[in-house]
Amino acid sequence: MTHDFSAAQRARFRALLEEQREADRSNAFAATRNMQLISDARQDSSTDDEHDPEGVTLAFERSSEAAMVQRSERGVAEASAALARLDDGSYGLCEECGNEIATARLEARPATTLCIECARRHGA
Ligand SMILES: [Zn+2]
Repeated sequence: MTHDFSAAQRARFRALLEEQREADRSNAFAATRNMQLISDARQDSSTDDEHDPEGVTLAFERSSEAAMVQRSERGVAEASAALARLDDGSYGLCEECGNEIATARLEARPATTLCIECARRHGA
């Protein structure tokens, strides 16, 4: 079973996925750079993180940047995987139940691998 997309739809999903991948790539890049800046700031201050309020703030900021890097890198990977599925014809099919994923859902989340029913079952 394959999703019956028109050439225009496929081109549109490809553009959406490439856009997402680019955005996530630059987010990952920016967050990685921010982490480096924060590390540098911590080394400069040479204070004890546990007791210095600024150190705690920097540690918190660093961990939110780290989470951003992770999220963005996952986004890049998901977009790449979805682009590969566009090429091999499995794009738009639910990884779990094999049903077609609604086009409206793909428009909103082009890299999704689950149909709405399976996504709800996973609580995502
Ligand atoms: Zn499903």
